[in-house]
Amino acid sequence: MKAEIIAVGTEILLGEIVNTNAQYISKRLADLGIFVYHQTVVGDNPKRVKETYEEGFQRAELLIATGGLGPTQDDLTKEIAAEYFQKDLLIDETSLQKIYDYFQIRGLTITEGNKKQALIPEGAKVLPNHHGTAPGCVLEDKGKILVLLPGPPHEMIPMFEQYVVPYLQSFQEEILVSRVLRIAGIGESFVEEKIKDLIKNQTNPTLAPYATQGEVRLRITARSTTEEEGFQLIRPMEEEIRKRLGFHVYGIDGTSLEQEVVQLLQKKQWTISIAESCTGGMVASRLINYPGVSSTFMEGFVTYSNEAKIKRLGVSKQTLEEEGAVSAETAKQMAIGAAKMANTYIGIGITGIAGPSGGTPEKPVGLVYIGLCQGDKVQVKKLQLSGDRETVRKRVTLETLDWLRRILLKNRVDER
Ligand code: ATP
Ligand code: MG
Repeated sequence: MKAEIIAVGTEILLGEIVNTNAQYISKRLADLGIFVYHQTVVGDNPKRVKETYEEGFQRAELLIATGGLGPTQDDLTKEIAAEYFQKDLLIDETSLQKIYDYFQIRGLTITEGNKKQALIPEGAKVLPNHHGTAPGCVLEDKGKILVLLPGPPHEMIPMFEQYVVPYLQSFQEEILVSRVLRIAGIGESFVEEKIKDLIKNQTNPTLAPYATQGEVRLRITARSTTEEEGFQLIRPMEEEIRKRLGFHVYGIDGTSLEQEVVQLLQKKQWTISIAESCTGGMVASRLINYPGVSSTFMEGFVTYSNEAKIKRLGVSKQTLEEEGAVSAETAKQMAIGAAKMANTYIGIGITGIAGPSGGTPEKPVGLVYIGLCQGDKVQVKKLQLSGDRETVRKRVTLETLDWLRRILLKNRVDER
């Protein structure tokens, strides 16, 4: 089946919002094995929306449109759809009741516009909206399918997942099942080198590596008739990759690096504190993304100035003067200071030059030291990273979390 995605909204054309709906739907359609050859963005203009439907159906059987289901005059995707399919708009009583309830619970006055949202083209399948008032719908006629979804992603995504995905799956003879292996601490080319032969000989499942922000992901996708059969096809490939990449693989699918690290910390009952200079709290923030982290993460210090490094962490003034704030010795003392001040088993100290200014020939932009103190043992890691300020800071955060993960895993091996 061929599909197209239509995002309706002048806001998108003006660059006021980003068309994340198209990205989301495209990705999910790819997962389902439905081909997408075109995406369109069109403003809230009746003539142009209608033309977009007409053009879309010349190329594809399925059009998925988002936006324009709201209560206002410029929300018109449904009206145009009814016109295109030559259907009347009828009130859907269930949707209308839900709209009344929605307003009553919130003590708001209902407007004519709100009632308009319960209008559905005759014969269309209604897609309930559990996160807002505008229902979506599916219109089918002579092999053409038009799916209308609300614009706000927090309404669109649950509706898509709950109602549209099962509906689309019913058309597919085969389904696509996939699993993503998440890899940190090694580059995409290294990964490719290790699995070159597997990529070259891929049939079913297929194998696709891709890199995002210092991480590598490997998607294994199988075509099958059932989900179970799909996973059976994936399993041997996954095992082979894990054998080759070892503990560079930190998780699967939605696992995050911070989740993996926090769970390992909790398992070992290690406590941790972090002193950050150039990352300004990013490492702490990522750990705190994971709920329940309070049992292991004790304190974070954002010690940007030299004074703060002295006052909060006890870094020696002499070290700062002689070696500089960005030096192995400073990182070490920051790590020791954090562990001491917060009374934790692990202390981490991060100091570096994120740029764009502040670099010298001896200490260029992207030079970073990470100190890690574990009990009475202290180690320092030196990194030379490239990229802009944001990229450098994100990379340091990733490197720190991954280093910690490796130390946690190594310890597990040592214990055996
Ligand atoms: P509402 O009931 O809020 O009017 P709607 O279905 O009419 O919803 P729009 O009016 O087109 O949708 O957009 C409402 C909001 O939804 C936008 O301001 C924007 O925040 C978000 N939105 C709309 N389209 C997209 C899109 N393609 N990608 C991401 N966000 C979107
Ligand atoms: Mg609207």
